[in-house]
Amino acid sequence: MLVDSHAHLMFPQFRKDLDDLLARARAAGVGRIVNVGTNLDTSRAAIALAEAEADVFASAGFHPSDSAKADESALKKLPALLKHHRVVAVGETGLDFYRKYAPREVQERAFRAHIRLAREMALPLIMHSRGAETRVLDVLAEEGGSEVGGVMHCFGGNVEGAKRAVDLNFYLGFGGIVTFKNSGALEVALDVPAERLLLETDCPFLAPVPKRGKRNEPAYVRYVAECFADAGWGDTEDVCRQTTQNAQTLFGLTS
Ligand SMILES: [Zn+2]
Repeated sequence: MLVDSHAHLMFPQFRKDLDDLLARARAAGVGRIVNVGTNLDTSRAAIALAEAEADVFASAGFHPSDSAKADESALKKLPALLKHHRVVAVGETGLDFYRKYAPREVQERAFRAHIRLAREMALPLIMHSRGAETRVLDVLAEEGGSEVGGVMHCFGGNVEGAKRAVDLNFYLGFGGIVTFKNSGALEVALDVPAERLLLETDCPFLAPVPKRGKRNEPAYVRYVAECFADAGWGDTEDVCRQTTQNAQTLFGLTS
């Protein structure tokens, strides 16, 4: 079995063929999907899908790109969503200094609020970080994020950053980028301790080779597993078994 630890099935790219997509994922051996919310609407929709599909789980939170929406009254609505029995994590949250969706202070205020909520609810965190790996880890350390742990999804930092994340009790998620030649991500990923590695798609974005440039979907997480196997990590079944166990340990994905 495989787990797609980071998907966005509520995005409009999937509106027309979600049932077929889930069937393809199951046929590819993807037995669990963490469907990640990015604001109140997508979080609520993710929960509704998780109620309907036993192998799909939800998270709730505000993506850094939506952090301007995460004002006090919006944040007050999150705990009710996080209490839902199909919600397995807080997020995605974090910082994005690359696209600069919102001023740094606004992003950071929302991120800190998410960490506090995760601690209150005893839920792991799902972090987005782009051009901000060091700052994300600094804020996590300051706010006690290690207490609940979580994942640095689509990790784009270097080997030192990955080591620090592991030391702070976090997992590292890798997807299609490890299959892109010369991205450098595979070298970082191969250095991560086996028990801290998660696989993901981040679909609809970042489809792995040989689907690069197409719409991504959970079934393609198998290409990411095969990439690790080809790089000498172990055979594909070892990669699947270990990363599935890791996702189960972090998120507790029991239907
Ligand atoms: Zn995401």
